[in-house]
Amino acid sequence: MKRILAVAGLAMGLVACGNPTSPPAPEAPVTPAEEAPAEAGAAGTINVYSARHYDSDKAMYAAFEAETGIRVNVRESGAPELLETMKAEGERSPADVIIASDAGALYRFQEGGFTQGVTSEKLSAAIPETLREKDGHWFGLAKRARIIVFDPQVVSADEVDTYADLADPRLKGEVCVRSSTNIYNLSLMGELIGRNGADAAAQWAEGVVANMARAPQGGDTAQIDAVAAGECAVALVNHYYWMRLATGTPEERLKTSRTQLSFPDQEGNGTHVNVTAAAVAAHSKSPDLAVQFIEFLATPEGQALLTTETKEFPVVAGAAIPAGLEQIPGFKESDFPLSELGVHQPEAQAIFDRAGWN
Ligand code: FE
Repeated sequence: MKRILAVAGLAMGLVACGNPTSPPAPEAPVTPAEEAPAEAGAAGTINVYSARHYDSDKAMYAAFEAETGIRVNVRESGAPELLETMKAEGERSPADVIIASDAGALYRFQEGGFTQGVTSEKLSAAIPETLREKDGHWFGLAKRARIIVFDPQVVSADEVDTYADLADPRLKGEVCVRSSTNIYNLSLMGELIGRNGADAAAQWAEGVVANMARAPQGGDTAQIDAVAAGECAVALVNHYYWMRLATGTPEERLKTSRTQLSFPDQEGNGTHVNVTAAAVAAHSKSPDLAVQFIEFLATPEGQALLTTETKEFPVVAGAAIPAGLEQIPGFKESDFPLSELGVHQPEAQAIFDRAGWN
């Protein structure tokens, strides 16, 4: 949680320059922007509530500050914690921008009334329509694919080339997954419900549960570890966890060398993709600056800063591909509208619960 003091200072209504614990003396005027145009903060300040936690994001904020003179204060926490914070702050929330991963997470902010719809010609032009909310409540900026990692010594690629395969009885005792309360699984289930209907989605969940090698546990990286260790032959993960290991330490690369990737449903609807996205906060005092920041993230420079370390796919044409991702051949992506995923969340959780996918 960095620079939280500055955010708290704004919440208390202090002038957003200098040390928030010591308001300027009455005779000391606030420095007009034109007197120090190059200095960060001179052109304004935005408060970013981010559910990301990458060192590279610091460079991203610094680059925006250097280019625009707009100061960026950041509050980093988990998405559920940020949501609770915003609930507690209500209309006094100092947040200008919300960044979170997974459209299902953004849906929760939108549904709670913590985002506002904005229009931006730049964002509409740069970001594909299926990756942004139709009324401008959030904009997908980096893409991730939910894929199958498998042990090629146990299963062949064509045995795991669809999501349906995970529920096939021939994979009994071979499947590792994380908890169903995780937003990545809820969003994948949201798409399955939206495409195939609730009954088919429930059948799939029951089939996966019947195939589990162990009770759901750990994050996505733990699933890859389990496949590499031979605990299961197949796991469901977001692509970037594998790619970080594949470009990591020799020990991490040894793990990925024992596994292969399948991008499911290439013959069908395409692989489930989701996004890291940004929204303008409902009670932002500086929505124009907030939009300016999101537009920066949708430039080739912003895209590189956003994705180089995380190994997500850029969404903007012409943006550089993070090292390692060039190994992944082009794949068919699902075009299921991401803004529809959230609508299915309660039903998705109910289906998982009924199936015994904890
Ligand atoms: Fe993640």
